[in-house]
Amino acid sequence: MAHEPITDLIHHPYKPPAKFAAPQPGIYKASTVFFADVAAMRARDWKTKVGYTYGLHGTPSTFTLEERLATLEGGTHCLLVSSGLAAIALVAFAFLKTGDEVLLPDNAYGPNKALANGELANFGITHRTYDAMNPADLAAKLSDRTKLVWVEAAGSVTMEFPDLPALVALCRARGVITALDNTWGAGLAFDPFDFNGTGQGVDVSVHALTKYPSGGGDVLMGSVVTRDDGRLHQALKLTHMRMGWGVGVGDVETLLRSLPSIAIRYAAHDKAARALAHWLGSRDEIAQVLHPAIEGSPGHDNWRALCGDSDLAAGIFSVVFDERFSSEQVDRFCDGLKLFRLGYSWGGPISLVVPYDIGLMRDASVARWPYKGTLVRFSVGLEALSDLRDDLSQALEGMGN
Ligand SMILES: *Cc1c(COP(=O)(O)O)cnc(C)c1O
Repeated sequence: MAHEPITDLIHHPYKPPAKFAAPQPGIYKASTVFFADVAAMRARDWKTKVGYTYGLHGTPSTFTLEERLATLEGGTHCLLVSSGLAAIALVAFAFLKTGDEVLLPDNAYGPNKALANGELANFGITHRTYDAMNPADLAAKLSDRTKLVWVEAAGSVTMEFPDLPALVALCRARGVITALDNTWGAGLAFDPFDFNGTGQGVDVSVHALTKYPSGGGDVLMGSVVTRDDGRLHQALKLTHMRMGWGVGVGDVETLLRSLPSIAIRYAAHDKAARALAHWLGSRDEIAQVLHPAIEGSPGHDNWRALCGDSDLAAGIFSVVFDERFSSEQVDRFCDGLKLFRLGYSWGGPISLVVPYDIGLMRDASVARWPYKGTLVRFSVGLEALSDLRDDLSQALEGMGN
């Protein structure tokens, strides 16, 4: 039957190229997925990856990225959401209900605490923070109401590296789910589900793909990886479906493109960051370097115990300026940098800097922040190391004594 041109245009007999083996997988976008008949429609189960039901539940492209991320982190299942923060929220919404309590390290990623203070509190879910560097503090705060414990290694901004196996063992002994914000380790510095080949690890690993998996400073996405018989994954998947937290396939394509180079990028960021952290540590303006792979940083021994085999660390660190420098002078230092740009996030090609007021970020009743000087966090990009060092040097000279 002849059609109007618009109909033939829409029903264009496109077929993907046969025998087109290529480095990158094909990209498939869909909200609607067609079924051959009603019986096939009724038989299809969206909870498994055997077939496709609806774009929100997965496409060949999202399934491929999920499988690759599960492989990267040593897990069995993965779910994609629209940001790292959405991945944190997915875990909270899947495992917490009114009357439960969640425990967070006091140095947790700030917006995770904000979610606990906001939506979780509104839903009657309480939270407390614990000192990540003191397992006894976590042990004392675990209660029958504790249903989820967040761990982070290294901690956000202040970069303390906790005794992760000890924290996780305390939770496991009480049957409490542990969720790791694994953005720093990225599945490369240590195995989140199998610490040092012991078979012990966290239950859930959350990853802000926005950082190293993207590597470009241009994509927001998050993942939630699990490794069990599928029970945790199933609970997460149900919440994922009910909340409608799918991802755009254009972003999935970008991530599939950048993921293969994550290991060499991570190592390059790491090498440059360590060199700059050492160099800054030798400067008289700097009172303390906070980088877990550098001796004298809080939790260095814990980093060595967990990441000694890989000898890897993320390319991000902080320094505390000597207290003789006012916060205005430190602002001048940050403003004086030319290659390091002022901006949040990390893991991209351009080096970034952010000054923080730690006093506003920590619960004084959990642990006293021991430094008086202003803290500045650096995310080291992929520029030539000598240029970055020169940039830091000229900005230090320009801050005035
Ligand atoms: C950036 C980041 C997140 C959140 O990721 P977004 O994609 O920016 O929402 C979560 N945790 C850590 C440790 C991060 O650095």
